[in-house]
Amino acid sequence: MLLSRRTLLYGLGATGVAGSALAMPRLFRTRDPRAVTSVVPVTATKDGAGVALRRAIGSQTLRMLDPFLLLDEFKSEVADDYIKGFPNHPHRGFETVTIMLKGAMEHRDSVGNRGLLGPGSVQWMTAGRGIVHSEMPKQEDGAMWGFQLWVNLPARLKMSPPRYQDEAPGSVPEVDVADARVRVLAGSIARTEGPVRGVETAPTLLDVTVPAGGTFYADEIPGGHTTIAYVAEGELTFGDRTVSAGNLAVLGPGRSVSATGAGRMLLVAAAPIGEPVSRRGPFVMNTDEEIRQAYEDYRSGKLVEG
Ligand code: MN
Repeated sequence: MLLSRRTLLYGLGATGVAGSALAMPRLFRTRDPRAVTSVVPVTATKDGAGVALRRAIGSQTLRMLDPFLLLDEFKSEVADDYIKGFPNHPHRGFETVTIMLKGAMEHRDSVGNRGLLGPGSVQWMTAGRGIVHSEMPKQEDGAMWGFQLWVNLPARLKMSPPRYQDEAPGSVPEVDVADARVRVLAGSIARTEGPVRGVETAPTLLDVTVPAGGTFYADEIPGGHTTIAYVAEGELTFGDRTVSAGNLAVLGPGRSVSATGAGRMLLVAAAPIGEPVSRRGPFVMNTDEEIRQAYEDYRSGKLVEG
């Protein structure tokens, strides 16, 4: 096959970023790169007891992107924006993922799990048939920055027992991928596997930092997986589209992801489920009747019983 301009990416090696006269242009031959199919700006909102959020998935702009039901960024140095936290509330029928970059949150739930989520940690909670939990800031002031992602479960697992994976930063491996520095939270890249395992939708969850003039390139994400890149800092260019911080890039079909910096993104991919979705508040099921049942079970105390 002839190489066309679309299949070549020129990036400067990381050594060139500091201005070294010896910077060597690096050439990446990309394999069927995923193009940006849409750029979704965040919607400012509040949730929990009044936590200020930037919602990229789960708003009117983008209700869901199978299997992703919600993606929120919380980022503030003002305590009023986060201090009230997320007191006790239930979930049923899906999985919640919390990714912390700055600050600390304390998690407690009806199963008896308790965890302190510090900077660099990731928590993957499978609500299954039901869990009640709280997520409260463990700081009075200072910067708080993180994400919450909701991932759907197929019908056959919606009523499964709850499961909790809490990974400290020390168990999250870092690896260089082309010029980028990548923290591997889930999935596998450059022969490096993230600590979150055994999840139905086989997710890839990467915290990717691309230096100025540098390139990220990966071809490990399965072609059929829904793939999104939330740009958290700077701006990243995918093919001919440049996406700035506070925007979600939805990536189309393809066999690789490539981006040039400078910027930082949360790159997430997972297998779509392809089932009907009925959702209301903290419950995500297949039918309206199952949602009604979830509310009834929560009111009668059956949501968290065996
Ligand atoms: Mn929750």
